[in-house]
Amino acid sequence: MKPLVSVILTSYNKPLTIAKAIKSVLRQSYTDWELMIMDDNSNEETVQIIKKYLKDKRIKYYNSNIENSERYRTTRYATLINRAIPMTKGKYITYLTDDNEFLPNRLKRMAEYLESHSKADIVYSKQMVRTINHNGEITKTFIRRTFGVLRKPAGYVDHCSIMHTRSIANKVYDKFGSYWDDDPKYWFNGDAAYWKRLTEFAVFYPVHEILDVAYKAPDSFQRLYSQTPKIIPDGTLIKGPASEIYLIDRNHRRKIASKEVFNSLKYDASKILEVPDPYLFKYQEGPPIDHHVFSSSDLMPNGLLIKCANSSFIYYLQNNKKHRISNKEALNQYFCSEEVVNVNEKLINQFENGPDIMPISDSDAFIPDRILFFCRNKYYISSKNSLQSISKQTALNLKLPVHSPVRVGMPFISRFFKN
Ligand code: UDP
Ligand code: MG
Repeated sequence: MKPLVSVILTSYNKPLTIAKAIKSVLRQSYTDWELMIMDDNSNEETVQIIKKYLKDKRIKYYNSNIENSERYRTTRYATLINRAIPMTKGKYITYLTDDNEFLPNRLKRMAEYLESHSKADIVYSKQMVRTINHNGEITKTFIRRTFGVLRKPAGYVDHCSIMHTRSIANKVYDKFGSYWDDDPKYWFNGDAAYWKRLTEFAVFYPVHEILDVAYKAPDSFQRLYSQTPKIIPDGTLIKGPASEIYLIDRNHRRKIASKEVFNSLKYDASKILEVPDPYLFKYQEGPPIDHHVFSSSDLMPNGLLIKCANSSFIYYLQNNKKHRISNKEALNQYFCSEEVVNVNEKLINQFENGPDIMPISDSDAFIPDRILFFCRNKYYISSKNSLQSISKQTALNLKLPVHSPVRVGMPFISRFFKN
C-alpha cells in the first residue's frame, strides 16, 4: 500500500470545466487517493455533473449550502478547505480547483518526492496557464516556472501545484488556530496568505515538471477582482456570473426586471460591468427596476436624463432631485441626446428641483455625477458636485469613456476638486 493522498477540490458554478477536473483525478497513475469535492452551493447544472461521479467510493461530496448574501464574508475556497482538511485522512494533502486539471502523473511525482525526501514537507511543480474566452477557446498560454527551493513562494506558486504533509498543516493549525486564513481581504491571493503560514515551518521543494493545467476564464475571480474598482458609483450597471443585470443605485443593487425596461431607460449593454458574485452580494438588494419606476419618483433610479413629450426641458436625476439642463451646450458637453428617457409630466413634477446643470464655462456650473473629466494628463470623476481623481485603469474598468472625457482647464478642477 502506498500512502493515501487527499485531494481537496473546491467547486462553484463551473459547469463547463468541473467534469474535466474530476476526470483528471480519476485518470491519475497513482491510485491511492481520496477526493473531497467541496461544493459551495453551486447551481443545479454544476451539481448534476458532480453527481455522476459519486459512485466511486474514493470520491466524497460536501455542500456548504452557503446563502449568496453571505458569500463575501470570507474567502470561500479557504473556508471550504478549512472544512475539508479535518474530514480527510491522507498522509498528504493536495488542492484542485474546478477550473484546473491535473496531468496524469501529478499525484505520483509529488507523493514519490515527499516519500523519498524525508526532509521535505511541501513540493510544488510547474503549471501550464491557459487563458480562455467566453467560447472556451484558448487565447493565451504561459508556463508558471519552478525556481528551486522557495522560501517565499507568494506570487510564484498556485495552490493547484502543491502537495504537503498533513503534519505541516497541523503545525499551522496549532500556531494560527486555522489552516488557511479565510479573511475576505485574501479573496484573490488566499494561497499566498497560506504560503506565509506554511513557510514559517518549511520550504517549498520543486518538481521540475508541468503537472497541472489552469484555465483562466473571463469570469474567474482573480480576473474579475483585479479589474473591479473598490467603489462602484451610483448609476453603474453590474452583472455577476449569473445573467441578471443590476443597477447600483443609492448603495443598493436593483435588479433590472426586463429587457424592455432596460431599453426604455436607454441603458447601454456595452457599459455593463462584470463583477464577482461576492462583490455583487455585498450590496443589499433594493427595489427592482421595472415598469413601476415610471410612476414614482422614489423608484426612478438616479443617473438618468428625462423629459416629457410636451416640453423641451431635459432634466438629470441626481440624489433624488431633478436638475434642469440649462441649454444645448451643457447637454452636449456631458451627455448625448439619445440617452433621454421619455416620461410623463406627473412623474417629473414629483421631483424636487435641484440646481441647473450649466455649461462648463459658466461660473456657477453644477456638474452631474459620474462624468469623466480630463485635465493635464489626469482623470477625475464627479460625484455630489465635486471631483475625485481616478486612475485611467479604474476608469476603463468602470467602462467610462476614457477616449472622450470632458476636457477642462485647471481652474475648473481646482474649483471642484476635493482631496
Ligand atoms: N469558489 C468558491 N466559492 C465562491 C467562489 C469561488 O468556493 O463563492 C472557489 C472556486 O470554485 C474555485 C476557487 O474558489 O475553486 C477560485 O475561484 P476561481 O477559479 O473563480 O478564481 P481564480 O481561478 O481566478 O482564482
Ligand atoms: Mg480558478
